[in-house]
Amino acid sequence: MSAATSPLAILGGPKAVQSEAGDMFTWPIITEEDEQAVLEVLRVGGMSGTEVTAVFEQDLVEWHGVKHALCTNTGTAALLASMWACGVGVGDEIIAPSLTYWASALPVFSLGGTVVFADVCADTITIDPVDIEHRITERTKAIVPVHYAGYPCDMDPIMEIAGRHDLKVIEDVSHAQGGLYKGRLLGTIGHVGAMSIMSGKSLACGEGGFLITDDEELYERAVAFGHYERTGQLQHPDLKPFAGLPWGGAKFRMHQLSSAVGRVQLRHYRARMEEIQQSMNHFWDLLEGVPGIKAHRPAKDSGSTMGGWYAAHGLYRAEAIGGLDIHRFAEAVRAEGAPTNAGANFPLHLHPLLNEADIYGHGKPTRIANSNRDLRQGPGSLPVTESIPTSCYSVPWFKHYRPDIIAEYALAFRKVAEHADELTP
Ligand SMILES: *Cc1c(COP(=O)(O)O)cnc(C)c1O
Repeated sequence: MSAATSPLAILGGPKAVQSEAGDMFTWPIITEEDEQAVLEVLRVGGMSGTEVTAVFEQDLVEWHGVKHALCTNTGTAALLASMWACGVGVGDEIIAPSLTYWASALPVFSLGGTVVFADVCADTITIDPVDIEHRITERTKAIVPVHYAGYPCDMDPIMEIAGRHDLKVIEDVSHAQGGLYKGRLLGTIGHVGAMSIMSGKSLACGEGGFLITDDEELYERAVAFGHYERTGQLQHPDLKPFAGLPWGGAKFRMHQLSSAVGRVQLRHYRARMEEIQQSMNHFWDLLEGVPGIKAHRPAKDSGSTMGGWYAAHGLYRAEAIGGLDIHRFAEAVRAEGAPTNAGANFPLHLHPLLNEADIYGHGKPTRIANSNRDLRQGPGSLPVTESIPTSCYSVPWFKHYRPDIIAEYALAFRKVAEHADELTP
C-alpha cells in the first residue's frame, strides 16, 4: 500500500490519538490535603520524628490485616532488612527473578550472600514456580517473588515449595500495592512483604518503603537491622542484649514528610486504584483478539488483580503479525500518539555487575565471593527472561476512566497490529 493511502500515522495517515491527554497520566495525584499534611510536619519541625510514621504503620497494618508494618526510607532498605530478618547471611543464597528492578536482588551482596535467578513465565512475566525447585541448595534461605509490572506471582506453588524446603518467602510488592492473588492482598502471602512507595510507584509517598509481616521475630529482626531508635522496644532474647545499636550499621528511618504524604495517599488509594483498574481493563478489553498483541493481566474470574498497574506492559507475539520487529512496532505506535517502548527491565543476570564486579575486595567477583560453586548464569541460561526485550512493551498507564480517550490509545495499538504487513519489508 502506498504511503498516501495507509491509515498508519508513520506512513502519512492520521494519528489515532487526537485528544489532549490532560491529567490522564499525572501521578501521584497531589491535592491540598497532601500539602497540608506536609506543612503540619514542617511547622512542628517533625521531619526526623517517628510519630507520624507510627500512625502510617498502623494504617498499613489495618489495610493489610497483618500484625506488623515497618516503614523504611526506601524500598531497597525494606528488602535488605527483610533478607537479613529471614536469616540470609554469608554464603547463603536467595532465588529471585532476573527480570526485575535491581533492588529485589542486589542487597543480598551486602549480607555476604548471593542470588540465583529463576526464569519467568512467558504470559505472566513473573517468576516461574516450575523453575525454582531445582535451583534450591542447602544454602538457599529465601525466595523473592516479584509481582512484576503489577502481575501477581503464582503464590500457591511458591509457598508450597518454600514450605517443603523450609525457606522464607519475601514478596517484592513494589509494582503491585493493593493487588490481589486469589482474593488475598499481595504482601500478606509470603513470610514478609516488602515494597517501595517512592513517587513513581502506584502507592506513592515520596521516597520510602515498608515491610509487613505476621511474624513477630521477623519484624523484630527487621527493626534491629536499621531502626536503632526502636531497639529498646524489642523483646526477642537474641536481640534484647544489643539494644541501642543497629545490627546492620544502617539507618532506615522514614522521613516524616514521606509518611505524612503516604497517609494521605493511602486514604485515597483504593478509590484511585479502582479507577485505574477500570481504565486499564477497558483498554485491554478493546484490544481483545487483536493479532500479535496480548493483554498482561490475570483472567477476570481468577480473583487476582493487577492492583495499581504500575509499569503496565503488554505482550508481543510477532509471529502472529508476520514477524514485525518490535522496535518498528513501537515506533509506529508512538507515531500514532501513544507512548510505548519495547522490552522491560534489562535481565540482571547478564549485567557485568552480577558477573565480574569485585565490590568488597574479595579478590573475586562478589556474585561468587562466598559460594561453594560458580553459580553465575550466562547468555542463554534464562531463555524466557532473555526474550523479554522483544516479547513485551510498555503501555499507557491510565489514571482516569475516560473511555473515549482510552479508545484512541487502544486504536493506536490496534491499527499498527492490523496493518503490520505495511511495515514489514
Ligand atoms: C522501585 C523498586 C524497588 C526499590 O525501591 P526504592 O524505593 O526505589 O528503593 C524494589 N523492587 C522493585 C521491583 C522496584 O520496582
